[in-house]
Amino acid sequence: MKKVIAFDLDNTLAESKSPIPDVMAHALERLLTKYDVCIISGGKFEQFKKQVIDRLNVTGDELNSLHIMPTCGTRYHRYDDVTNDWRMLYHNDLSEDQKKRIRAAFEKGSKQLGLWEDHPYGEIIEDRESQMTYSALGQDIASMLGDEGLKRKYGWDPDMKKRVALRDLIAPELDDVEVRVGGITSIDVTLPGVDKAYGMRKLMDELHIAKEDILFIGDMLQEGGNDYPVKAMGIDTIAVRNYQDTPYVVEGILGVTD
Ligand SMILES: [Mg+2]
Repeated sequence: MKKVIAFDLDNTLAESKSPIPDVMAHALERLLTKYDVCIISGGKFEQFKKQVIDRLNVTGDELNSLHIMPTCGTRYHRYDDVTNDWRMLYHNDLSEDQKKRIRAAFEKGSKQLGLWEDHPYGEIIEDRESQMTYSALGQDIASMLGDEGLKRKYGWDPDMKKRVALRDLIAPELDDVEVRVGGITSIDVTLPGVDKAYGMRKLMDELHIAKEDILFIGDMLQEGGNDYPVKAMGIDTIAVRNYQDTPYVVEGILGVTD
C-alpha cells in the first residue's frame, strides 16, 4: 500500500493560481485521514496557503500529514502543532549574483523575442528565493482578471513555442543554473537538478520512505511536461487531464482502501 499520495498543484488540484474547488477540498480532507499527502509545485508557500491550505477544514492532526513543497521541493513546510503554524524545515536558495544574472537574461531575452509585456498584471519576473520565475503576462493576471485572465493565460502559448524559444535563447548564458518551461505562461530557473523528481527525493529522505511508497498525480506527465521527471525516476503516477478529473482519482484511491 502507498504511504504518500503526492500531487502537482496547478491544473491538477485547481485551476492555475485559483483556490481548489469544494469537491477537491473534501477529497483531500478524506485523504488526509488515511495517507500522508504531499503537494509540490513551482509556486511559493503563500500560493499553497491561498489555493489549498486555507480551503481545508481539518484538524491539526490531519495537517500533520500534509507536506508542502514550494518551488519544486527546494523548500519544505510542515505544520507545527506546538505553535499552530507552518514551519519551513529547509531551504535551498539561489545566490544574489545568480538572481541578478537571471533577471537580466529574462528581460533581455523576452524583449529580443518580442514577448516582453509593457502592461503586465503584477510582476513579470518574480524572485522566489530558490527560484526565479518569468510569467509572461504578469504574476497576478489570474487573481486580477479572474476568468478573463485565465483565458488569456491559456491562449498565450498553447503550443509551448514561445516558452521553448525563450528557454533556448537564455539557457546557454545561464550555465550554472537550470532553465525550464514552468507553467502555461512561465519559465522557471533554479539551481541545477531541481525539478519535481528532486522534490520527491527530498521527501523520501525526510520521511525515510522508498519510491514504491509514493503515488504521484499530475497533469503534465508527458515527456517534456513539468511532472515528467517524477515518472522518469520510477515513481508510480496517474495522469489527469485537468483538475476536474482529480477528485475521481482520489475517490478511486479511497475506494480501494476504505
Ligand atoms: Mg500542473
